[in-house]
Amino acid sequence: MFRDKLHFLSKVADVLIKEVNTSELADELKAVLSEFEGFKELRLYVYDSVTNTMRDCLNSWSIVEDDSDVYKSFGTIKGYDFVINSKAYKLPAVMSEITLKITSLCMPIVKESKDFGIMELAFEENTPVNMEFLFLMKIFASQVSLKLQNIVLTEQSKINVEFHDSMKNIAKIIETQYELNYIVPIIGEMLDRFITDHLIYVFLKWENEFKLVWPKACNDERIFDVLNRLTPETEYILTNNDKIGAFPLISEEGEVIGCIVARSTLEALSKRDISYLEQLTRQSAITINRANSYSKILQYATIDALTNLNNRRQFELRLWQEIATTKRQNNPLCAMMIDIDFFKKVNDTYGHASGDAVLKGVASIIKSTLRESDIPSRYGGEEFAVLLPYTHIDEAKIVGERLRKAVESTPIKLNDEVSDVKTISVTISMGLAEFNKKETGEELFERADKALYQAKENGRNRVCVS
Ligand code: GH3
Ligand code: MG
Ligand code: MG
Repeated sequence: MFRDKLHFLSKVADVLIKEVNTSELADELKAVLSEFEGFKELRLYVYDSVTNTMRDCLNSWSIVEDDSDVYKSFGTIKGYDFVINSKAYKLPAVMSEITLKITSLCMPIVKESKDFGIMELAFEENTPVNMEFLFLMKIFASQVSLKLQNIVLTEQSKINVEFHDSMKNIAKIIETQYELNYIVPIIGEMLDRFITDHLIYVFLKWENEFKLVWPKACNDERIFDVLNRLTPETEYILTNNDKIGAFPLISEEGEVIGCIVARSTLEALSKRDISYLEQLTRQSAITINRANSYSKILQYATIDALTNLNNRRQFELRLWQEIATTKRQNNPLCAMMIDIDFFKKVNDTYGHASGDAVLKGVASIIKSTLRESDIPSRYGGEEFAVLLPYTHIDEAKIVGERLRKAVESTPIKLNDEVSDVKTISVTISMGLAEFNKKETGEELFERADKALYQAKENGRNRVCVS
């Protein structure tokens, strides 16, 4: 047996002072405990009072079955110091010479004098231990208790911080974005990232029918059944043994405009999950409602609010006008389609607000590099369409190449704040096409778009001509 008890405690203290998660903690403790003859394994379990289940801390927090030995030990240990080979013991006031033969030694993990978990040390069959050892283990268990409480608290507060970040981010998208087709997938993605052990589906209601907007597919018929049961008065519906939860999105007028569905593949939704989902759904509904009224106002706008370029509607109008002029006057005209390369990565790495800043930055490079007579528009998302009147394809290639280089070599600030000087560089791919009299404006841009696709295929950051 390990002779120097103080030495043992000091090694334990070294472990407890480190910043670790539960499995790292267990590994370190196992290394210290391995100096005891016969020691085999350390296990840690914590009782989750929200779900009323016992969790295996070292096995992805999985639920411990009610009929397992450790669950029974947790029941018997209350008021005792140990459960040794399934029998509960309390340490006597004085140390005696007794030797016990142990195979399994369970000790309570305590929080505010309530048992909140259990630690089990497994030994080789009938390893002899004396009283002194048990006293030592009692001190050990109380120290580990404190550390474990601390870790669980930290992990919970991390989740809380992430939750508030999600809420804030959902609220923030709306500052510059108003297209539901763009907003809703972002909301879906954020929920998905936050609610990790469940699948998230977002539906919007169009002409009285629920349409899935995030993710791409849902083949669970039960989910569609739930959707049809939603009314404006529904708080939420749980079904399939509480493994599916449907949370309606309600408009300002009090109508169901969509629904967020969480589906678990393993356990029922806990009270905590439900509370998070209710709040996130409410925040999403506010964002979607604001986007809806915003887009009604913007139906009459000509400028894209984020980039200050022409919006898609205005682009179509200008295209029609330019084609008419070109045909009448016999002038050349070129079409340019631009798409930012790997833009999804910018969003994923730096967040959507930074993604927006990059879009703004690229738009401003486009504007300053092109000529006064050129007509740049935000075509949608991270795509730009430019009309180049009075321009032949050879000239367009020069303009395009100049623009491609300008974007490549200009660092873009990710934040408007002066104090934040983080910048990144992005590249664009471009497709060009020159108008021929037999085609429509739409066909012209279809060809430019095909050339853009070619530029992507050929490795991006390049200009291709139709
Ligand atoms: P590729 O080089 O093939 O173009 O890769 P990509 O990642 O740019 O392509 P993809 O079309 O898959 O991704 C475009 C992304 O742009 C997806 C979408 O979330 C994002 N996006 C679209 N509009 C906006 C916007 O207004 N703001 C932000 N931040 N992101 C946007
Ligand atoms: Mg794209
Ligand atoms: Mg792109």
